[in-house]
Amino acid sequence: MENTMDRRTFSKIAALASTTLVAGKSLLALNQESVEESKHEEIYQFKIGDFECFCINDGGKDYPPERFFKNVPKEKIENILKERNLPIDVIYTPYTHLVVNTGKNLVLVDTGAGDLIPGNGKLAPSMSSAGIEPTDIDTVFITHAHPDHIGGLLDEKGKPIYSNARYCIWKDEWDFWFSESANELAKESHVKSAREKLGPVKDRMDYVEKECEFLPGIHVIAAPGHTPGHVVISFSSGGEQLYYVADTVLYPLHLEHPDWLSVYDILPEKAELSKKKIFDLVAEKNVLVIAQHFVPFPSLGTVVKKGNGWLWRPVETKG
Ligand SMILES: [Zn+2]
Repeated sequence: MENTMDRRTFSKIAALASTTLVAGKSLLALNQESVEESKHEEIYQFKIGDFECFCINDGGKDYPPERFFKNVPKEKIENILKERNLPIDVIYTPYTHLVVNTGKNLVLVDTGAGDLIPGNGKLAPSMSSAGIEPTDIDTVFITHAHPDHIGGLLDEKGKPIYSNARYCIWKDEWDFWFSESANELAKESHVKSAREKLGPVKDRMDYVEKECEFLPGIHVIAAPGHTPGHVVISFSSGGEQLYYVADTVLYPLHLEHPDWLSVYDILPEKAELSKKKIFDLVAEKNVLVIAQHFVPFPSLGTVVKKGNGWLWRPVETKG
């Protein structure tokens, strides 16, 4: 069951200019200036083979550093942030989402925070301003059901914003949020928002139980731990690849220091295994990666192996 977007939409999107990126070709410094600039950017377009890709900024949020680095002494974090000319009192992260036009399908990965987190909900309006109507999206992947990924599913009347789409989620993810164990393992507000936002799209949902090519060139890859059914989505076209790694980790320092942990992983031991599986894979392949919360926007870069961790190399997107 494959939906195919209409000719009008395809030609409208194809008419937009785009950039072909070469993985690791040009790198941007991770510092306060690039982070500040990225807060004001809405959309970034590039190509993976024949696929037109659009990183779209839903907003973002400042987090207390101790939430991102629960097992690291405060002074150690402050020193490392200072060295990189980054603020020491808050960790800013964008909420970067991805639209891909394969020529056959128009796909969205995650729906933003919507009205659940102040300063967000820009995804659908930014998409429209780029000529992509939310009603044209035919497939929505839900990497996991935390508020910043599912908050933008419904409009103010409680109806699906991506009203003509089918939805894809890992079955364990759906089952978890509607189970008793969610009440024990997850924050009450997260359980409430998952049930409220996912419930109305229940009948449009495809539940994936094993890794697969869900649509031509688009694979669903298991990466549990951050949440029980967290997934990574990969895109392949013309010999090029892009991995949307969602919240496999939350910040570049989590790659350099794989033992530094955030408070947000529901199953930390599984998260550890998934981190190794996914980042060893993308480093080995030297492919482009979107890590949803990585600064600066568009959260796009490559990863290289270093010691027992990895280095994040954001791609220069200007000029
Ligand atoms: Zn997230």
